[in-house]
Amino acid sequence: MKPKAFQYESASTLEAVYALLEDHGDDAKVLAGGQSLIPMMNLRMSSPSVLIDINRIAALKLVSENEHELRIGVLTRHHQIQSNPLVARYAPLLRLAVEHVAHLAIRNRGTFGGSLCHADPAAEFPACAVLLNATMEIGSVRGTRLVKAREFFHGPFTTAVEADEMLLAVRIPKPPPGARFGIDELSRRHGDFAIAGLCVSVNSLAGRESFEWVAFGIADRPLLLGTLSALWANQSTPDRQAVAEAISTDFRSHVDNNDEGQLKRLLSAELVWRCLKSLSAPIPQGASQ
Ligand SMILES: Cc1cc2nc3c(=O)[nH]c(=O)nc-3n(C[C@H](O)[C@H](O)[C@H](O)COP(=O)(O)OP(=O)(O)OC[C@H]3O[C@@H](n4cnc5c(N)ncnc54)[C@H](O)[C@@H]3O)c2cc1C
Repeated sequence: MKPKAFQYESASTLEAVYALLEDHGDDAKVLAGGQSLIPMMNLRMSSPSVLIDINRIAALKLVSENEHELRIGVLTRHHQIQSNPLVARYAPLLRLAVEHVAHLAIRNRGTFGGSLCHADPAAEFPACAVLLNATMEIGSVRGTRLVKAREFFHGPFTTAVEADEMLLAVRIPKPPPGARFGIDELSRRHGDFAIAGLCVSVNSLAGRESFEWVAFGIADRPLLLGTLSALWANQSTPDRQAVAEAISTDFRSHVDNNDEGQLKRLLSAELVWRCLKSLSAPIPQGASQ
């Protein structure tokens, strides 16, 4: 199928994007990599009357750091997340996550910001942003505002970005030395969206390890697993039954108790062990905050 007719605008400055968004509001859509938006337009699931192409804005492609944070511009492509040395140093979880995102052709065009704004509940980057406690920079004619990733995802394909706003960059706190990260998922074929996925951070403080877990492909947005995360604080090596029970508790108000829900619980319990087996190397001293 072909999309409905639309007006195409290629913006070369943020001010131009903001002005177009202010003029057209809900009728306009930002075009980043186009890997989700264009198929949706072809299927007529989305029919913006104005498409604002942001690909000419160089400032949105930058990856930089300051003393405390890594800052990733929204137009950073998935394959650049995989190869960027700053991302490798300060956000190894994202590098691990790319391995699960789609296929080479899509990774060449798809952008980090596009994935976050698309907010597919089964996508990897939104879950990583929540786990890494990222902060989103959102811009409009009204200025720039900051929103924590943990408040950014409002439901399937819905975020805190208003109709006259766009996402500019994502700030990720530099992890402490010794921190390790893991991610794994189960999908029908490698590169497909996850049926169930988990990511984890492991921090060592005063000789004691603390864990934080986030699930994706489970609820309407990335799901912080508080009970599972607390398990390691109470038992240094929880057994399989304790893990399965903690997951059931965390999923209770988010996952139905039907066959699909049971499958997601079983897969997630298994993913805990897989994630722990494939943790990244510890963040070296001097590479962190
Ligand atoms: C076959 C296939 C398999 C895939 N598999 C996976 C997978 O396994 N995991 C996964 O995570 N993804 C997967 N994807 C999606 C892919 O990662 C997309 O690239 C990504 O979801 C969207 O990024 P994009 O840059 O292409 O965004 P676009 O398609 O350009 O935009 C997506 C949405 O975000 C909005 N948007 C984009 N950038 C901004 C911005 N800066 N500010 C405000 N709004 C913005 C757009 O208006 C649109 O609504 C798959 C895609 C395909 C086609």
